[in-house]
Amino acid sequence: MIDTHTHIYEPEFDQDREAVVERAVEAGVDRFLLPCINEESIPRMKALAGQYPQYCHTMIGLHPQDVHADWQDVLDSMWDKIPNPVAIGEVGLDFYWDDTFRKEQADAFEYQICKSVEMDLPLVIHMRNAEPQLIDAMERHRSDGLRGIFHCFGGSRESARLMMRYEGFVFGIGGVVTFRNSRLAQTLADAVPADRIVLETDAPYLAPEPHRGHRNEPSFLPLVADKLAQIYNLSITEIDDITSSTACRLFSI
Ligand SMILES: [Zn+2]
Repeated sequence: MIDTHTHIYEPEFDQDREAVVERAVEAGVDRFLLPCINEESIPRMKALAGQYPQYCHTMIGLHPQDVHADWQDVLDSMWDKIPNPVAIGEVGLDFYWDDTFRKEQADAFEYQICKSVEMDLPLVIHMRNAEPQLIDAMERHRSDGLRGIFHCFGGSRESARLMMRYEGFVFGIGGVVTFRNSRLAQTLADAVPADRIVLETDAPYLAPEPHRGHRNEPSFLPLVADKLAQIYNLSITEIDDITSSTACRLFSI
């Protein structure tokens, strides 16, 4: 099983990172895709990938909440620090917490979309409270053959239908699908086929039930697969096979 989005290189795991990795592998989760968020995260990512090269794949990118006035200098300085990234991520638009750098976020996203085209790499897109602006950017690049993941998709049926039109893209599904008050399960059942989904934890965030509210970790990923198995009326093994082959194809791993 592949955790396509996990931040286990973050300080939240400094006390017990090796145990976390062991528990994950024990639970059958033996691939971790590490999204980059800012320049400070790079040494931590590289240390983890160096320790577990058989399990880890690293991305390069500047998270929208880390985009400030100096984003271009930051990107120039961080870009070569990840050798052979498997994706550009996580990048995108987030106007939820803070939209001071709205224009800079849009510019940095545009720049990183162009990088993904130039480098022929998938995009791992983080989007919050910015759907119209995201769709604008996607439309501008319609003929570029973009591919990637709408990470942490938690949206409505209308959003799902809108995003399904980007054929190179799949939906990153994590703990939210297990939340009792979430509409995501119904949205997936109605509008998204299983072969347009990949699994992700977004650890340490968004732990699935029954761990909601606590630190998330990759060993919890089978709880997400179990919920998806119910939604699509498939076995967990089938969900694992379908989502893993989609992730392998997308990231060329
Ligand atoms: Zn993330």
